[in-house]
Amino acid sequence: MTSVARRPGPAAPVRSQVPGVKPQAVRSKAKPGFVLGVIAVGAVIVLALWWQDTTSVHGLGEWLTGAGRILGLLCGYGVVVLVALMARLPPVERGVGTDRLARWHAMGGRYVVSIVVAHGLLIVWGYAVTARTNVVNESGALLTQYPDVLMATVAGFLLLGVGIVSMRAARRRMRYETWYYLHFYTYLAIALAFSHQFADGASFINSLAARFWWSAMYLTVALLVLWYRVAVPWRDYVRHGFRVAGIRDEAPGVVSVYIRGNRLEELAAEPGQFFRWRFLDRSLWWSSHPYSLSAAPGRDMLRITVKDLGDHSRALRALRPGTRVWAEGPFGAFTANSYAPSRGAVLLAGGVGITPLRAMFASLPGRVTLIYRARSWRDIVFREELDAIARARGGRVHYVVGSRAELGTDPLTAPVLLSLVPGLHKQEAYVCGPAGMTESAVSALLAAGVPRRRIHYESFEF
Ligand SMILES: Cc1cc2nc3c(=O)[nH]c(=O)nc-3n(C[C@H](O)[C@H](O)[C@H](O)COP(=O)(O)OP(=O)(O)OC[C@H]3O[C@@H](n4cnc5c(N)ncnc54)[C@H](O)[C@@H]3O)c2cc1C
Repeated sequence: MTSVARRPGPAAPVRSQVPGVKPQAVRSKAKPGFVLGVIAVGAVIVLALWWQDTTSVHGLGEWLTGAGRILGLLCGYGVVVLVALMARLPPVERGVGTDRLARWHAMGGRYVVSIVVAHGLLIVWGYAVTARTNVVNESGALLTQYPDVLMATVAGFLLLGVGIVSMRAARRRMRYETWYYLHFYTYLAIALAFSHQFADGASFINSLAARFWWSAMYLTVALLVLWYRVAVPWRDYVRHGFRVAGIRDEAPGVVSVYIRGNRLEELAAEPGQFFRWRFLDRSLWWSSHPYSLSAAPGRDMLRITVKDLGDHSRALRALRPGTRVWAEGPFGAFTANSYAPSRGAVLLAGGVGITPLRAMFASLPGRVTLIYRARSWRDIVFREELDAIARARGGRVHYVVGSRAELGTDPLTAPVLLSLVPGLHKQEAYVCGPAGMTESAVSALLAAGVPRRRIHYESFEF
C-alpha cells in the first residue's frame, strides 16, 4: 500500500497502514442478515412469552384486547430495537453500515408509531366491548382508573410527535439539530411507557419469565447506549487528546481540517470510514457532524475535507489550531474488507464524495481506477494529490467534468464505464456521491456486469 500525498504545515506523514495495529478486517462484524435474524428471534420470544401467558380468549372483546396486547408488546420491543440500532455498537456499525442502520431505524420508527396507535385503539375498543360501554367512556375509565395508563398515553403522543417531525416534509423544514434533539423525547417516552408495561400488561403481572426477559432487554440496551455513546467517546477524548492542527483550502468552499491526537493507531480507523466531529469552540461545541477521513489515518494525525453546505461545514474554515475536538468513531462499513487485490477496484466519486475514496485510492492494493465526476474543474478537489497517488501506485484517475447538458449525455453509463475500466465486471466497485449520481452509477455498474454484492456505496445523508 502506498500513500504519497503531501500534507501541509504541522501534519506528520500519513501512513496507510500502521504497524502493530490489528487490521479491521479481522475485527468482529455483524452482517446485516445476522442482525435482522437476531431482531426476528427477539420478536418471536416476545410473542412466545405472550402465548405462554394467555390460556384462553373468549368473545370479540377479548380478541380485540388480545390483538391490542400483542401490538403493545411488539411496540415495546420495537422501541428497544430502534434504540439499539442507534447505540453505535462497533460490530454492527462495521458490518451493517451507519447509513443502512439509519434507514432501518427510520423504517422501523414508522412501523412502531403505527403500531402504538393501533395498540391504543384496539385496547380501548376491546375493553369497551367487554364492559358493554362506548369507547369514549372506556377511554376516560382507562385514563383515570388504570395505573400508568395516563403516562403511557403521554408516551404514545410523544412517539407520534417524533414520528411526525421525522416525516420528510416536516424534517426538510427544520434544522438538522432541532430534529435531532427533538428525537431525545423518545427516551422520555420509553421511560414513561416502561412502568405501564409492568403495571398494566397482563403478560407481566403473572409471569416472572416475562418480567425478567423484558427487564434484561431494557437494561442491556440502556447500558450499551451509555457505554458506546457516552463512556467510549469520553475515554477516547481523554486518551487521544484530539486537537485541530491546521486548516488548508482545497478548492472554492472546500477545506481540509487536520486533527492531531495521540496513539491514533488504537482507533484502528480504516480508509473509507468516518467520525462524528464536535469542535469544542464557542459556536460549534453543541453539534456533532459526520465527516469521512480524506486520508488514510496516521499515528498522530487525521484529516477530513469538508464542503461548505451549511452552518457547520462553513464554520470549519475559521477553526483555530489548538481547538479541542470530541471525535466519535470510527464508523461505517464503507471499507475494503471484502476486497481481494487480485480482482482490482474501481472507485466512483461524485463531488465531495471524493473524500473517503481519496483515502481508499491511496491505500487499496492491486489495480485501482478512480473515476471522479464533478460539475466543473473548479470543483475538483485534491487534483495534485490524486495524480501523484496514481503515478506512485500505477493507478489511473479519470476526471469526468461538466454538467449533463454540457456533455450532451449521461457520462456514467455502462458503455462509458466499460471503456474507462477494462475488465470492470470482475472488479470491486466503491461509489460515493450525491444520491442521484450514486443511483445512476450503481445502475450503470450492474448493467456493466458487476455483481451487486461487489458494489459498495455510502450515502452522505442519514
Ligand atoms: C457518513 C457521512 C460522511 C460524510 N462525509 C463528509 C465529508 O467527508 N465531507 C463533507 O463535506 N461532507 C460529508 N458529509 C456530509 C456532512 O455531514 C454534511 O454536509 C454536514 O453535516 C452539513 O451540516 P451543515 O450544518 O453544514 O449544513 P446543514 O444545512 O445544517 O445540513 C445540510 C444537510 O446535511 C445533513 N446533516 C446536517 N447535520 C448533520 C448531522 N449532524 N449529522 C448527519 N447529517 C447532518 C442533513 O441531511 C442536512 O439536511 C458526510 C455525511 C455522512 C452522513
